[in-house]
Amino acid sequence: MQHILVVEDEQHLAFGIKYNLEAEGYEVTTAGDGSAALKLFEEPAGTPDLVILDLMLPGMSGYAVCEALREKGIDVPVLMLSARTLVEDRIRGYDVGADQYLQKPFELEELLSMTRNLLGRRAKSSPRPDRKEVGAVYEFGRARINFDTFAVVVGEEQLRLTHTEMKLLRYFAENEGSVVTRAELLEHVWGMSHVPTTRTVDNFIVNLRKYFEEDPAHPKHFLSVRGAGYRFVARGEA
Ligand code: CA
Repeated sequence: MQHILVVEDEQHLAFGIKYNLEAEGYEVTTAGDGSAALKLFEEPAGTPDLVILDLMLPGMSGYAVCEALREKGIDVPVLMLSARTLVEDRIRGYDVGADQYLQKPFELEELLSMTRNLLGRRAKSSPRPDRKEVGAVYEFGRARINFDTFAVVVGEEQLRLTHTEMKLLRYFAENEGSVVTRAELLEHVWGMSHVPTTRTVDNFIVNLRKYFEEDPAHPKHFLSVRGAGYRFVARGEA
């Protein structure tokens, strides 16, 4: 059974969320503040599959809790709840490593849908059976890449990519045509240990688009898949 931790100090709301998630078949634990929530992660058996995290908590804020989790290298999906509506607040949430942001008051259906989505991504993040073999030399679009020597040529231009960029590129090539999630990329390219936030992935995608796309604002190879992640298409797609 998938285990969800709800961190919310307003008891009626915590109870309402727990009740509805349990009705959907999830196991639910609640915590009334950040330090209680973080303690749960120290118990090896109790690590949740998803954290629903209120922003306004007594003591530690939801931001601080999320940041603390990521600093410990815990890559659990985090759905942040907040009554604050400013875009800056949402961005700050993503910057500290939240995966989704849901504004209060919210519709129950939306919470359940985000929950299913975040847990589904998790389930899909193990290695894929349909993974493609990629040799030392790989070509797509105008690009020719040598994974052994790190030589990258796009059109006439020679590029120097970092080690991480090469790893990311290789992972995309091996999973060409499939949707890959940010969590999956973090796990397989960065490794769990020094993963700051899912934002990191987005910044690297920006770089790959600058290197390989004719028009980085309208990518044909490194495509965004809304609410899911990215998809690399070697032959290009509008
Ligand atoms: Ca609250």
